[in-house]
Amino acid sequence: MTDTDGTGAPTAQTAPEPVTHADVVVVGAGPAGAATARFLADAGRDVVVIEKATFPRDKVCGDALTPRAVRALQRLGLHQEAEGRVPGWHRQRGLRMYGGRTVLDLPWPELPDWPAHSVTATRELFDHTLAQHAVAGGATLWEGTEVTGPVWLTSSQERVAGVTWRQRREDGTTATGTVRAPIVIVADGNSSRLGIALGLHRDRKRPMGVAIRAYHDHARPDLDMMEGFLEITSNGKLLPAYGWIFPLDDGTVNVGWGQLDSSRHFRGVSYRGILEEWIASMPAEWGISAETSHGRTKSAGLPMSHNRRPMVRGGALLVGDAAGMVNPFNGEGISYAIEAGEMAAEAADLALAHSDDALLQGYPRAVTEQWGGYYRLGIVFAAVMGNPTIMRLCRDYGMPRPALMRFVFRFMAHLVDRRSADGIDRIINGLSRAVPSA
Ligand SMILES: Cc1cc2nc3c(=O)[nH]c(=O)nc-3n(C[C@H](O)[C@H](O)[C@H](O)COP(=O)(O)OP(=O)(O)OC[C@H]3O[C@@H](n4cnc5c(N)ncnc54)[C@H](O)[C@@H]3O)c2cc1C
Repeated sequence: MTDTDGTGAPTAQTAPEPVTHADVVVVGAGPAGAATARFLADAGRDVVVIEKATFPRDKVCGDALTPRAVRALQRLGLHQEAEGRVPGWHRQRGLRMYGGRTVLDLPWPELPDWPAHSVTATRELFDHTLAQHAVAGGATLWEGTEVTGPVWLTSSQERVAGVTWRQRREDGTTATGTVRAPIVIVADGNSSRLGIALGLHRDRKRPMGVAIRAYHDHARPDLDMMEGFLEITSNGKLLPAYGWIFPLDDGTVNVGWGQLDSSRHFRGVSYRGILEEWIASMPAEWGISAETSHGRTKSAGLPMSHNRRPMVRGGALLVGDAAGMVNPFNGEGISYAIEAGEMAAEAADLALAHSDDALLQGYPRAVTEQWGGYYRLGIVFAAVMGNPTIMRLCRDYGMPRPALMRFVFRFMAHLVDRRSADGIDRIINGLSRAVPSA
């Protein structure tokens, strides 16, 4: 069923059959969907991926791929990209933190389980690369095609049997059809219309973030670190928020800031206005100003700590933002989307091999075992961090203490070795085990 042009590049199948059969249909070709599709294709499964946009397309993001994401790329087989050796991919050696009067360089730690570098790539390039990779592995990709709802096996609506889709054609007509498949991967992102159609709503008690980003030219050609800022203010008042400058390979930077919904400033502030205020306050020698901006400044939500559950319902598996898998400590979602994709693919493959839906439960079990305790801690963290006083304490007490910051840095980036545990691993693993899973 693969539809490629011989170069491995995806070519949208412009006229899908009105009724198509597959082992698995994947809804959404962001990092979660594309990764799940590739892992399933590697397992020999017949996979159709349906994506409403057409690649390459923009996506609101910081474009940062931490060592955790680098490892996820390696597991997907994208080794050159993971090393930052491909044009468009930029490599960094750590994070430079700014807070109060302190500037602290925190190199990525040297650990047995994790790479010691990060990379950046625009989501335009990153998502296109992952989609191409899924197709190169044997998945069929339909771009410019929107999934409109689930197909149910019976009128009791307990078990899905595929999805319906709609495609607007260049000649102005609209085609519709159905993909029938025993397993549906729901990877349609934060809003997850398909998740809602399956009766799965966002748990509003779980943390949610909002962030905004812009692209700028700059005058810092040697920027080989990601940069984080605990100094985001509104009318001179410190916000419980976090800012970033991430260098990109084309000589521009991705600049943005975000905050959690526990902040009383979550609603009712101008995200764009605060970004502009911050940029205007940057040192002149950085060469970043309102005039250096290009492209559209955009904001979006970050669903955290498994805020849409259960992850499996009636043959459908929710992966990535659709399941609220963003790390509440640092706003990272790409690595988790890819890792979850691997776990979902494994469970789906097993369930198909044995024609046994019960085996799909291996997916939420694996996710909960890997991150459940950590994400539970994240719920507490998110509640506490909404308080500007805590942010001030972090800035004024934490920043001048490099050993403490190194611990916090590793904790927030979730870089924990399971086996060869050092002191930091033992503390993080112990804390994560001490609380019930999220
Ligand atoms: C401002 C901001 C900055 C961020 N920065 C970072 C960062 O630096 N690093 C990081 O790791 N994470 C970051 N994140 C989080 C990250 O963007 C997400 O966690 C990640 O995109 C999740 O991937 P996904 O595949 O689950 O969802 P998405 O990337 O949202 O992909 C979902 C896909 O589904 C498609 N789709 C939706 N509905 C349908 C439908 N009905 N039919 C067909 N297709 C459909 C969409 O077009 C889309 O392509 C940031 C988020 C924001 C908002």
